[in-house]
Amino acid sequence: MSTTRVASVVLLGSSARGRRITAVHWAAPAPRVRIVVFGCIHGDEPAGIAITQILAARAPPSDVDLWAVDDINPDGLAANTRLNANGVDLNRNFPYAWRFYGRPGDSEYPGRAALSEPETRAAHDLLELVHPTVTIWYHQHQDLVDESGGDVAVESRYATLVGLPLRRLTRYPGSAASWQNVTLAPTTAFVVELPAGSLSPRDATRHADAVLELV
Ligand SMILES: [Zn+2]
Repeated sequence: MSTTRVASVVLLGSSARGRRITAVHWAAPAPRVRIVVFGCIHGDEPAGIAITQILAARAPPSDVDLWAVDDINPDGLAANTRLNANGVDLNRNFPYAWRFYGRPGDSEYPGRAALSEPETRAAHDLLELVHPTVTIWYHQHQDLVDESGGDVAVESRYATLVGLPLRRLTRYPGSAASWQNVTLAPTTAFVVELPAGSLSPRDATRHADAVLELV
């Protein structure tokens, strides 16, 4: 008897304004690898959602446990702003080398404490639950793969598969990938900076394919 794989939609939490934050989960009974992909964290950098939507819509290989999260900043996406509705940069709000500076609305305001924001907690709790082998965070629009502090061979392979250069950007306090690479070992989390604008269907498919060819 064959079984048909079905993805489930999982509620991860709610935004500051009460918008739902969801993931599509392709569960695997005995996964060889666990992959989590975030399409958007800065609300004005949404191109990666085209990639997570492709991953959500088709079954991965049977030994891959896959979580596709379109957007952990739905208030920012709705307002076309980098920050969440509390004026916090979610990618400075994770509990890695977190420090306080600035004021709400500043472009990299880290929040009043690490994990102060419901969107950050939703992503954090998912990642602590899953302990992914690989996590990818899509941003825009520097057109590169960031050497983010995990396994550089994985980052390099992704860069080759999608035809982007691999560069090392600044590792900011409170960033999600740094938090994961430092505290969730063994894991590799990295940032992909997509080009400006939206991805063509062909490019989005190339990225979605690369996610599954990584591991
Ligand atoms: Zn960004």
